[in-house]
Amino acid sequence: MKYALVTGGSRGIGRAVAIRLSQAGIPVVINYVQNETAATETKAEIEKAGGQAELLRFDVSQPEEIEQAINAWEDAHPDDFIGVLVNNAGIRRDNLMIFMQNDEWQKVLDTTLNGFFYTTRRLLKRMMTKRDGRIVNISSLSGLKGLPGQVNYSASKSALIGATKALAQEVAPRKITVNAVAPGFVESDMTKDLNESELKRLVPVGRFGKPEEVAALVAFLAGEEAAYITGQVIGINGGMY
Ligand code: NAP
Repeated sequence: MKYALVTGGSRGIGRAVAIRLSQAGIPVVINYVQNETAATETKAEIEKAGGQAELLRFDVSQPEEIEQAINAWEDAHPDDFIGVLVNNAGIRRDNLMIFMQNDEWQKVLDTTLNGFFYTTRRLLKRMMTKRDGRIVNISSLSGLKGLPGQVNYSASKSALIGATKALAQEVAPRKITVNAVAPGFVESDMTKDLNESELKRLVPVGRFGKPEEVAALVAFLAGEEAAYITGQVIGINGGMY
């Protein structure tokens, strides 16, 4: 059976993606790093709706943890494979560049960029052997236009776009697609400290996006119908650029 792995599937956009993929009939592996309660809630919601989900804790910035977790998953699932990977785990550590600390720079790159590299590399081999795969990377509007106070975050999300385009060309002959989604402001824990009433005036549609709206786009890219879309960056931002 083909599974989908959603990194950071416990909360926010990742949770909505996990739910949406399960609604499409795909069994889902929900990754999280610390919030087991939230991950368990996501799993319960999927199961309540008749879907199939399991939890897999690992820190995407730690290659040994990924290796151990995926090895254990593969041992428990000899006849299954992870054919959809959504690289969604991400963090913000905003600061003006002049004040930015090494660890604020490092942690953001470790999670978004190194997390993409370690997780994708680990799962790619099987996708190549199976000649089947969908990889969706959650980038950001911040990675397209750059946002002040987010030099670390913009750099990581922009690098993810470069990696998406390069990898897409490497694996296209094996029927694996690699795309990036670049959301603008989306309601989640990540944006709950922002002044929404102020910021939504910058968005032509006049509101923040919903995780479910991003999830619908990700599910489309993860589906059969998107076989001819690869190496693309698709904005979902209410017209803000
Ligand atoms: P969120 O609500 O803060 O959730 C972050 C998720 O990432 C959580 O599930 C968290 O797991 C997980 N995570 C963080 N560090 C991790 C690590 N080292 N290893 C594994 N999982 C880790 O964020 P969100 O708003 O849903 O954002 C999801 C993605 O969309 C991120 O990549 C973010 O940059 C991107 N994005 C968000 C927005 C927005 O406006 N919200 C806009 C553009 C792009 P735990 O629950 O275990 O902590």
